[in-house]
Amino acid sequence: MSLVVMKFGGTSVEDPAAIGRTAAIVAGRIAQGKQAVVVVSAMSKVTDLLLRAAAAAAAGDRTGALAISARLRCRHRDTACALIKDSADSAALQVLIDQKFDSLDEILRGLAAILELTPRISDLIVSYGERISSRIVAAAFRERQIDSVHVDSRDVIVTDSQFQKAAPIDTIIEKRAQEHLNPHISAGRVPVMGGFIASNEAGITTTLGRGGSDFTGALIGGALSAEAIEIWTDVDGIMTADPRVCPDALRVKIISFEEAAELAYFGAKVLHPATILPAVKKNIPVLVLNSRNATCEGTRIASLAPHCNSPFKSIAVKKKLTIIDVVASRMLMSHGYLKEIFTIFDKHQCPVDMVSTSEVSVSLTVDSNDKLPLIAADLSKLADVKYEGKKALVCMVGEDIRGQSGIAAQVFAAIRHINVRMISQGASEINMSFMIEEEDAEEAVRSLHAAFFQNPDPLVFDVEAKKAAVSF
Ligand code: ADP
Ligand code: ASP
Ligand code: MG
Repeated sequence: MSLVVMKFGGTSVEDPAAIGRTAAIVAGRIAQGKQAVVVVSAMSKVTDLLLRAAAAAAAGDRTGALAISARLRCRHRDTACALIKDSADSAALQVLIDQKFDSLDEILRGLAAILELTPRISDLIVSYGERISSRIVAAAFRERQIDSVHVDSRDVIVTDSQFQKAAPIDTIIEKRAQEHLNPHISAGRVPVMGGFIASNEAGITTTLGRGGSDFTGALIGGALSAEAIEIWTDVDGIMTADPRVCPDALRVKIISFEEAAELAYFGAKVLHPATILPAVKKNIPVLVLNSRNATCEGTRIASLAPHCNSPFKSIAVKKKLTIIDVVASRMLMSHGYLKEIFTIFDKHQCPVDMVSTSEVSVSLTVDSNDKLPLIAADLSKLADVKYEGKKALVCMVGEDIRGQSGIAAQVFAAIRHINVRMISQGASEINMSFMIEEEDAEEAVRSLHAAFFQNPDPLVFDVEAKKAAVSF
């Protein structure tokens, strides 16, 4: 029998109605004769609120932190209550939710006394979101006649100890998945797990980084050699631009692994950037689907995507970036200089997104972060340094820009009214990126979208939805 890993994001489990829809979608797959493993995020906004509670406690605001926790307790209790009618199951779940919130409150009180929030404690606090949502969803499935079982992801997803952005250890995950999931799958049960959360080899809770539930889904899919990895979210699939920025964005029906990875890395929030890796390794297709519109076929991400008549498939934007300019006449005709610069970024574990060099200067872009003053201080030992925040990177992605002439001219003509600070093309041959002021990002995306998606190829883009919207 074929196995599908189904990951449901925060909006797909945000309230009883959403969890009901999620259960119906899973029941539908089972009715098709498939086996399923389900991975769920925390209920929508819960991770942000847990982080806010942690920050409040660490700042000494014990009352504020506990008030956030109390509101979250009510929301989870009410959701469970609305979903589970069987009185014994319902009572057991309420006890479990209370136990979890009691221990969370204890941690918050402790934090308000020590006043120091370490990455390790932060991971422990946010883990409650997925630990509780996955329990509620598993119970809701059982209530709806889906034979499901809760599995603690921390027993399966084993990582290194980089709290807040831990790296998975594939070999252990494969063994653990077989040990903890296969017996249930063989017995026809649906394991329900929390995404995002993991543990290191010593069993201490870690997380895979924000948006990391997609990554959990892909890791499980890879470990079990699933037939498909389904990412269920609140939009119809990967769109030609973020539909919140560009309301006439079109659904991309099919896209390559390489294109999707590039889009995710450069800011398309619909997919966590690491999701594609486990899928590529085992050539497992990834589908991005809408839990509010389950009949829509979504986006299929696969090794090969068909060529289309437009050069680009989608436009992504990454905000909150900083440009660092390093200027030194010493660079002229010398070697080893770039190495010295990158050694400093490496020392501060700061990834660089884009690089551009001239005779005597190097410009780099990085995520704005609190290490920038330290990085600048180190760089200033080598050269003059300036840095400027509030920048955005716009990234246009498509297999069909390879070898096409005149594309750059069209791109920059479409945004001729916007000041471009840095340009990059060529690193991957499938993306063209440039840096602009953050405040210009939306306007740039809309102008580029209007210029490049006027006559979308029906083989790759959902033009029917566009037509329907126009006639409506
Ligand atoms: P989930 O909670 O299901 O993981 P996310 O909020 O992480 O969902 O991702 C879905 C959101 O990604 C959409 O609501 C949309 O606003 C945003 N998004 C950004 N770029 C794109 C894109 N190219 N296609 C689709 N959605 C996008
Ligand atoms: N709940 C986590 C977050 O909000 C992980 C996820 O939803 O993918 O970042
Ligand atoms: Mg997400």
